Amino acid sequence: MSKEMLKDASLHMGRRSFLKMAAIGASFGAGSAFASSDSIRPATEEEVKNPFPGSKRVKTICSICSAGCGIIAEVQNGVWVRQDVAQDHPISEGSHCCKGIDQIDLVKSTQRIKYPLKKVDGKWQRISWDQAVNEISEKMLKMRAENGPDIVEFLGSAKFSLQQAFYFRKFAAMWGTNNIDHVARI
Ligand code: SF4
Repeated sequence: MSKEMLKDASLHMGRRSFLKMAAIGASFGAGSAFASSDSIRPATEEEVKNPFPGSKRVKTICSICSAGCGIIAEVQNGVWVRQDVAQDHPISEGSHCCKGIDQIDLVKSTQRIKYPLKKVDGKWQRISWDQAVNEISEKMLKMRAENGPDIVEFLGSAKFSLQQAFYFRKFAAMWGTNNIDHVARI
């Protein structure tokens, strides 16, 4: 079963049922899926209760915005395997927004983009960081030369730390515009 199939299946059944099936069946062939019982079996009670033996629960915070809601990251052999809400966190008090609840996918998602991509003739191609930075900066400088510095709007991220926000503001000033705001403004 592919990771995508497991993820899709998890959306359509309860967590407990999904764990019962998925904890054991992660390696059987996609073609045989649920038809074959050779390579899938119900999880034991113990496996349902503890699908990640030896894991540690580590207190951390969601890094998506500056609210800093609490997260419990479950880590097995140095790998983040599961996420839970931090019930006793003094700010979030056991809740998340919809972004924070999937914070683990910033690390584990198979859809995560890990390098720059450029669309060429309708298809995405991998390019180097140097190429990406150079092409973007060349285009920005051309736009400024043709239209002035206010042609650009700098939109800060809720993921910025204080120091990143400071440098971002400085960059906009150096560029020559006051067109700078925070993404939460929308
Ligand atoms: S993105 Fe959501 S869960 Fe994460 S810190 Fe901000 S409000 Fe909290």
